[in-house]
Amino acid sequence: MRIDVLTIFPDYLAPLELSLVGKARQSGLLDLAVHDLRAWTTDRHRTVDDTPFGGGAGMVMRPDVWGTALDAVLGDDADDGGTVLLVPSPAGEVFTQRAAEELAGARRLVLACGRYEGIDARVAEHYASRPGVTVREVSIGDYVLNGGEVAALVVVEAVARLLPGVVGNPESLVEESHGAAGLLEYPVYTKPPAWRDLPVPEVLTSGHHAKVTRWRRDRALERTAARRPDLLERLAPEALDREDRRV
Ligand code: SAM
Repeated sequence: MRIDVLTIFPDYLAPLELSLVGKARQSGLLDLAVHDLRAWTTDRHRTVDDTPFGGGAGMVMRPDVWGTALDAVLGDDADDGGTVLLVPSPAGEVFTQRAAEELAGARRLVLACGRYEGIDARVAEHYASRPGVTVREVSIGDYVLNGGEVAALVVVEAVARLLPGVVGNPESLVEESHGAAGLLEYPVYTKPPAWRDLPVPEVLTSGHHAKVTRWRRDRALERTAARRPDLLERLAPEALDREDRRV
């Protein structure tokens, strides 16, 4: 997969050189580039923003600068299809694990990180009509950040770990929170078996695989009911077996 991130703060994206995403880039599983939006400005002050039409506080990012930058980054390659232009915005669709799974199937992602009061709305409108490009405005949660860079980090990490080969053991993706089961993950434990008077639940050291599986499923159900009842409500009735209903 190819990912391009456009921002006025390229240094903000430095963590993409670390950990699993960094390794995926080094091994060629992920081709990722960060671009400085100001490289496409034409004036002495490298201006990317201006005052909002209609008045009001703050500044808005100019569509002409974004247009030149996005045309250059998208290139002719976007005509081949499979490119998703992601515009982080607190007013966008909420970014979920389902969205991450969908995006992991894209050929290319381009992330346009806004600042100030955001990017002139004509930018999303224009690229939505470009063949081969899908535009998605995404929010990483119901709060307002200063810029799209943190959202870009979130989206890139959530998508990259779903690409084949990025996470060493793909089994670890199966039972995760927000996975196929639609539940939060059960609590996890490691050595030592007793720590500060807190023992590990006995069943986990019993060696009885069926009991461990049932225990984990029960804890996942309990946790989900306590913390995210909305997830349980969304489960299809057939997703719960007879034992589940007992919990
Ligand atoms: N005036 C905008 C509004 O009220 O919808 C908020 C602009 S915010 C200060 C500046 C930039 O931060 C946005 O253009 C977007 O790129 C990013 N941003 C802020 N909150 C975000 C969120 N919850 N999810 C994704 N991006 C966000």
